[in-house]
Amino acid sequence: MTRVGFIGLGMMGTPMAQRLLAAGCSLTIQDANPAREEALLALQPAVRRADGPGDFSGCSCIFTMLPDSDIVDRVVLALLPHLAPGSTVVDMSSADPARTRLLGERLKDAHVDLLDAPVSGGVKKAAVGKLAIMVGGAADVLPRVKPLLKAMGEAITHVGPIGAGHAAKALNNYVSAAALIATAEAIHVAAAFGIDREVLVEVLDASTGRNNTTQNKARQFMLNGAFDSGFSLALQAKDVAIAASLGRRLEMPMRLAEQVDEITRAAARSLGPTADHTELYRHLGQR
Ligand code: NAD
Repeated sequence: MTRVGFIGLGMMGTPMAQRLLAAGCSLTIQDANPAREEALLALQPAVRRADGPGDFSGCSCIFTMLPDSDIVDRVVLALLPHLAPGSTVVDMSSADPARTRLLGERLKDAHVDLLDAPVSGGVKKAAVGKLAIMVGGAADVLPRVKPLLKAMGEAITHVGPIGAGHAAKALNNYVSAAALIATAEAIHVAAAFGIDREVLVEVLDASTGRNNTTQNKARQFMLNGAFDSGFSLALQAKDVAIAASLGRRLEMPMRLAEQVDEITRAAARSLGPTADHTELYRHLGQR
């Protein structure tokens, strides 16, 4: 049985780790919040808790599913002295591609490979192993971990060199956030005009305004006031900021991305760190 490491057992990490277990892997796990480890630890001996970075030394592959680049850097650099040459770290978090490149260089010096393999599809697709996974890194490293990625995802795309997966993910989430904001604004203006909100979503869904928010978020998490999609507004704000900064860094500023960034940051400040990203709808409805 392959023993792999999995660090970061939040909304996404837990169902992803469960998919690896269902595929026959044994796991060494770690989360900064011990409560997040409990559900998986019920599955001992297949699951072991790491008491420190040294406990990952027997894993030839370690997955990370963490909030951002600051945390990924800290966690992975603490692991590094304990990893055998030839082992692979697969960062499945959504992170900053420039930081990922620097981290990849640090790991390369220790003969450890890094792949960035962020995901799209949310908690629902993570639970059924149907995530879209976009991979950055050396093409010859990917086959080593592809069978493991297949336990978690359906579409596994090699996007380019190290960092390319994280860049593609940030750009995807910017496009998704722009569509969410446009949809929320349209629903509020429609309502002010006297159109039923549900009817407007139905119209968009049957027309060229159809998008992931009209199909999978408006009725499911916004109009019904549930706001519990499992993807926080803080994480979405991080992704949009990465996309906007990527454009600036490449001297191709994206005017719409800058505005989406500003709107998302303001909402995150106003709604606080625990807000779900679908609460942008509520925020934009405030006059
Ligand atoms: P989350 O906040 O639910 O989980 C993050 C986990 O990391 C938490 O359990 C936290 O305790 C743990 N953690 C934080 N610092 C740590 C440390 N130093 N060591 C070990 N564990 C630590 O977040 P999530 O929604 O699971 O998202 C994880 C990543 O996946 C993020 O980068 C996010 O942008 C991305 N993502 C999320 C979704 C989604 O729908 N939630 C979808 C795609 C991608």
